[in-house]
Amino acid sequence: MTFNALVAREEQVAFETLSDADLPAAGITVDIAFSSLNYKDALAVTRRGRIVRRFPMVLGIDLAGTVAASDTPEFATGQQVLAVGQGLGESEWGGYTQRERVSADALIPLPQGMTLEQSMQLGTAGFTAMLCVLALEQNGVVPSDREIVVTGAAGGVGSVAVMLLSRLGYRVAASTGRPELEPYLRDLGATSIIPRDELAAPGAPMQKERWGGGIDTVGGTTLANLFAQTAYEGAVASCGMAGGHDLATTVWPLILRNVSLLGVSSIRTPKPKRIAAWSRLANGVDFAKLTELSRTEPLANITALSGQILEGQVRGRIVIDVR
Ligand code: NDP
Repeated sequence: MTFNALVAREEQVAFETLSDADLPAAGITVDIAFSSLNYKDALAVTRRGRIVRRFPMVLGIDLAGTVAASDTPEFATGQQVLAVGQGLGESEWGGYTQRERVSADALIPLPQGMTLEQSMQLGTAGFTAMLCVLALEQNGVVPSDREIVVTGAAGGVGSVAVMLLSRLGYRVAASTGRPELEPYLRDLGATSIIPRDELAAPGAPMQKERWGGGIDTVGGTTLANLFAQTAYEGAVASCGMAGGHDLATTVWPLILRNVSLLGVSSIRTPKPKRIAAWSRLANGVDFAKLTELSRTEPLANITALSGQILEGQVRGRIVIDVR
């Protein structure tokens, strides 16, 4: 059997026809139905970021499909499964292919109440948004009159974060550089809209207490300002760098306001935490809104779509249909 895959080699990224014999020798064989497009995928596809750790590499950090063959009782033939992160598309072959062999550790069962396509409407971006919400919860950030600010709100992580926080009863300030998307963000549950520029200019290390907490996908001065504007006992979860990776700040919010700066990485999340986060997603997502914030595109469009996401032109999430 042969199938189509997007393969990165040292000199180029191109579609190739592979067969079962090309797949990694060990692991669970999965017939993939859907993958998704994340910021990191776009960096790999366009070769604008050093994402791939070894060549050749099948790209795609997410996948969802059906087990075709299994060498462990943990997964049965015919079972629906998904994987996000865990080195897929970086050090392990990923999801931009119709068939893949994946380590049992990277896979989890598709959560009950979710379709394969819905799982990829979430993908790494939605999973990361959930990890950010969990981090805030674990640090005692509870719904109150003070808003939680979400930056890069119209992007993948941001859109899901706005929707999840709103469903949990938080008031959500959505920060965006695209004012025309205000109706979209309010429909996801945003209680106010903050222009991107308002948080982008360098500010004082301690500013007026404004937020109960934050989820930041932008980094740089935006994150420094969020940190400086978070109220006593609040917390900011930092997961992205769409605006920059520098962070110039001071200890003042930490030592005068008990504000916590929380790191969030989805890449190597241990399996029990992954399963718990996906279960929260299955129960906490508004699936009608999830469908509204997503669209499904064929794998053939991946290069053009990657350019668009890096230019900040994609709204919400893109599912990649690899079939
Ligand atoms: P998207 O491209 O979907 O969203 C990013 C959003 O950031 C854009 O939609 C835009 O939102 C905003 N943005 C873009 N460029 C700039 C800029 N120059 N300055 C300020 N804001 C900007 O990407 P994802 O949601 O998939 O990922 C967001 C970030 O999170 C990325 O940096 C990604 O690498 C990171 N990430 C990290 C993960 C982790 O495990 N830590 C996992 C997943 C993602 P708007 O138009 O609303 O302003």
